[in-house]
Amino acid sequence: MITFSKHFDSSAWLQICQQLAPYNATLIAVSKTQPASNIAALYELGQRHFGENYVQELLEKQPQLPADIHWHFIGHLQRNKAKYIAPFVHTVHSIDSLPLLAELNRQAEQNNRIIRGLWQVHIAKEETKFGLLPNELRDILEKFHPSDYPFIQMVGLMGMASFTKNIADIQTEFGLLQQLYEQLKPSQPDYFCQLSMGMSSDYPIALQHGSTMVRIGSLLFGDRPTKH
Ligand SMILES: *Cc1c(COP(=O)(O)O)cnc(C)c1O
Repeated sequence: MITFSKHFDSSAWLQICQQLAPYNATLIAVSKTQPASNIAALYELGQRHFGENYVQELLEKQPQLPADIHWHFIGHLQRNKAKYIAPFVHTVHSIDSLPLLAELNRQAEQNNRIIRGLWQVHIAKEETKFGLLPNELRDILEKFHPSDYPFIQMVGLMGMASFTKNIADIQTEFGLLQQLYEQLKPSQPDYFCQLSMGMSSDYPIALQHGSTMVRIGSLLFGDRPTKH
């Protein structure tokens, strides 16, 4: 087992936990590019949900860390890589097609386990962000029959706001996702009980718009090197 980093500064973690408590939101500690020792340090404090973006990096770190960590895959997932994370991943936040869902279901079945999933919705103005447009999601949901994917439990929506300092723009984008979530929820409350939105720079806004899961990296661990 990995030893944890004794020099880890836990003040940001404590402060974020206190901020989330009144909202009953879950903190996903985004640990991409972080060494396993930093993940272990947060684990020692009681953090159990961690988010990773890259399959290879996750596969290197996961075996070094406690088995009861809930790993959230938050990056773009290529269909042919689903098999590598299926043995242990808790939730995939980036489901954007039925073929990906079908492959993930197949791999979950192979491992005889249930994987949770979120539909990733494109809300940002930037072209580069992945995800389904709201209308594409509605089309997919018409063709989506949960019984076709018995090893996947879809639980909600994920989205990323534009990378901007303009608070009004971020509010508009999170507001859009919240509205979509609240439109979908009444018909199928079991499939829409999680709304994953908010990162280091915008999570207070996300909480005001009903986020149930915030994905925070740099605020917890310090700035990442600019290039992965
Ligand atoms: C990296 C990343 C985060 C965390 O970003 P920070 O700005 O470091 O908090 C959250 N969500 C996704 C999808 C990411 O890729």
